[in-house]
Amino acid sequence: MENASKEELIESIESLKEENDKVKDELMQKVRHLEGEQLKSNVSNHQLEGKIKELKGEIKSFKKNPLILATVTEVFDDNQVGIKGNVGHEFLVTYPGSINKDLLEPGARVALNQNNLTVVNVFPKKKDENITAMEVIDRPDITYDDIGGLKYQIVEIRETVELPILHPEIFKEIGIDPPKGILLYGPPGTGKTLLAKAVANNTNARFIKLVASEFVNKYLGEGSRYVREVFELAREKTPAIIFIDEIDAIGTKRMGDTSGADREVQRTLMQLLAELDGFESRGDIGIIAATNRPDILDDALLRPGRFDRTIEVPNPSIEGRRQILKIHTEKMKLDDNIDFEKISEVTEGLSGADLKAVCTEAGMFAIRNNRRKVIYKDFMDSIDKIMNSIKGIN
Ligand code: ATP
Repeated sequence: MENASKEELIESIESLKEENDKVKDELMQKVRHLEGEQLKSNVSNHQLEGKIKELKGEIKSFKKNPLILATVTEVFDDNQVGIKGNVGHEFLVTYPGSINKDLLEPGARVALNQNNLTVVNVFPKKKDENITAMEVIDRPDITYDDIGGLKYQIVEIRETVELPILHPEIFKEIGIDPPKGILLYGPPGTGKTLLAKAVANNTNARFIKLVASEFVNKYLGEGSRYVREVFELAREKTPAIIFIDEIDAIGTKRMGDTSGADREVQRTLMQLLAELDGFESRGDIGIIAATNRPDILDDALLRPGRFDRTIEVPNPSIEGRRQILKIHTEKMKLDDNIDFEKISEVTEGLSGADLKAVCTEAGMFAIRNNRRKVIYKDFMDSIDKIMNSIKGIN
């Protein structure tokens, strides 16, 4: 009897233990679940805190006074910079130590506090603006000898742009103003840029090129500032040649109704006309513009005192093509039996730039065929290829 009750007791203790373990397991599971839930809510708390901070920042920025935008003109010691606003006044203002001094250079844009004009932010100069929209070469290395077949154009450009730079006294003596600007027109790749560079070379002038279409497309809103800056840059160091390529991008005939973008283009043109009218031509700044579309140009540009001389730069004649081929094959290793007369004949309609491509491609054919010299057939294959690619484009 005693034994039986002992067994029963053990049995009931064991079943209690089992039950206990079960409850414990269940509780542990619940704890793990709750821990998971806590982790989740911690994460979402954190996210919400971030969002609140962001919204608070936004509210703060909404409450802030608007900032003034200006352009740095000069950097001085003692945390001071010269700036110019859109209205035209220049100010000497300070900037705090927190501003990255390296970014402060003439031309950089800055944001100023409205009350005390302190610089609160600086925007770096767009890196590619100088590369694409403006190119400045102190003295280009292109000479008249590098230009094939534009004899008449060279004589004209020397008389109208070079003579006033080199001998302003002649114009003074005779009592006439030297021409201000000339317009070169003709198909692409015919040597308009080469001509402008050669003038700059021969007059030891700084060459400033701006591509009008670039700053209309990429720097909308900045066009007139660019024009102003280009003329300032030219005045800074004379003699200078300002070359405005694709002038039709800002100088097309004005239509009646205009969109915002068109109005901006017109503002840029107005600025250009104002600069042309405003500067007294002493002959030390030559302005050369180029276009493929003279027919769409605004008459205002072609008035006396502006681009009143126009020179056509057409595709080369057979003699021109012969000269251009000679220039571009000068450094090439050529076979003796190359019939350049024939090559000049069959390349009718090609521009100077196309002829340069013909020479380069002929060289590539020689390389592909493991030859050390370029032969006549390479030229013929190359002409075929270039002509076909031109046909493909048109
Ligand atoms: P675009 O209207 O497209 O701006 P462009 O008339 O200004 O063209 P260039 O930039 O002067 O043409 O010419 C492009 C290249 O073609 C030159 O760098 C040169 O290698 C070659 N080239 C064009 N014309 C001539 C030429 N008359 N003599 C020698 N090379 C030429």
